[in-house]
Amino acid sequence: MDADSPLFDAYLRDVHQRYAAIDDGKVADYIPELALAKPEWFGLCVVTKDGQCFEVGDSRQLFTIQSIAKAFVYGLALEDCGREYVNRRVSVEPTGEAFNAIVLDEVTNRPYNPMVNAGAIATTDLVQGKDAVERLKRMLDMFERYTGRSHDINVPVFLSEKTTGHRNRAIAYLMLNFGMVTPRIDETLDLYFQQCAILVNAHDLAMMAATLANGGVNPVTGVRAIDSQYVKDVISVMLTCGMYDYSGEWAYHIGIPAKSGVGGGITAVSPNKLGIGTFSPRLDSKGNSVRGSRVCQALSEDFSLHVFSVEQAKLDLDVYLRGDLGDRSSS
Ligand code: GLU
Repeated sequence: MDADSPLFDAYLRDVHQRYAAIDDGKVADYIPELALAKPEWFGLCVVTKDGQCFEVGDSRQLFTIQSIAKAFVYGLALEDCGREYVNRRVSVEPTGEAFNAIVLDEVTNRPYNPMVNAGAIATTDLVQGKDAVERLKRMLDMFERYTGRSHDINVPVFLSEKTTGHRNRAIAYLMLNFGMVTPRIDETLDLYFQQCAILVNAHDLAMMAATLANGGVNPVTGVRAIDSQYVKDVISVMLTCGMYDYSGEWAYHIGIPAKSGVGGGITAVSPNKLGIGTFSPRLDSKGNSVRGSRVCQALSEDFSLHVFSVEQAKLDLDVYLRGDLGDRSSS
C-alpha cells in the first residue's frame, strides 16, 4: 500500500528539506570502500504497521547495511538456538566500550551484547546451516522476509572488509580460545563480513523496522519474518545497545529503539506504530548518521514516539496518517 496521506507526506518532505541543509559529520573511511559514498545522499522512509509507505529523497539509494544487520541476525540466532542457549553465548549488557573493542565479560567470557562486533560474530556463529552456502542463504532469506525483496552483497565491500578486518579476526579468535564460538570460525567471519555488506536502502530499513513494529510480520507482504516471541528481545537490545556509545543518550532523548551502521543507515522501531528508515552517510563522532539522528529526534518529539512518553503529542499521528485535519484545522 502506498502513502495515502498528503499530510504525513508533506510533514516528511519538510523534515527532509530542513535536515538536508546540515552538512556536519564525516563519511566512514576505515573500510576503504565505504569512503566512496556521496556525502550528500539523504533518503527517508516511514512505513506504518498497516503498510502505508512514505518516502522522500534518496530512499532507494543502495548502501551497505553494516551493523544494522546485527539486530536481525540476533533474531535469527534466537530462532535457531532458543533464548536460553543464545544468552549463554552473548549477554545483553550495554558496554561503554567501542563497538569493535577486544573485550569479553571477565567471568563468563561472553561478549557484552549482540550489537558490538564480538557479540555479532558470536550470533553469526549460531546461524545454522550445513555449509557456508546454506548459512548465507538462510541469512539472505531472512532479510528478504523483512523487506519483501531479495538482497545482494556488495562484493568489493565484503572483500575490502575481509582483507582489512584484522581486528574482527582477533576478536573471533579470542572467542574461539575461550570456546565461545565453534571452530568453523573462518567461515563464520566470512558470513559476518558478508552480512555487513548486504545492500539495502532506506525503504528496506523502514520495512524491516515496521515488521518488528508489527510483531514480526511484514505489513505489506503479510510474511512472518521472525517468531513473535523474539520480537521484544530484538527491540530491547536495540533500545539499550543499538546506537554505539550514544545508546544511553539516544534512549533518554529520542527513545525509539534503533540500530545504526557505519554505512549511514538507521532503522528505528516505534512498536505497534511504525518503522523508520534513514540514510545519510555523514556520521557523528559516535558513528551515527547526523541527519538520520535528527530525523528520528524530530519524529520522536513531534509525534511523541519516545517509548516511555506519557505526554500528549504535539502532532496527532493518527490524524497525520489519515491525512484529514477535520475539525482540528480550524482550532
Ligand atoms: N562491518 C563493520 C565492522 O565490523 C561494522 C561496523 C558498523 O557498522 O558498526 O567493523
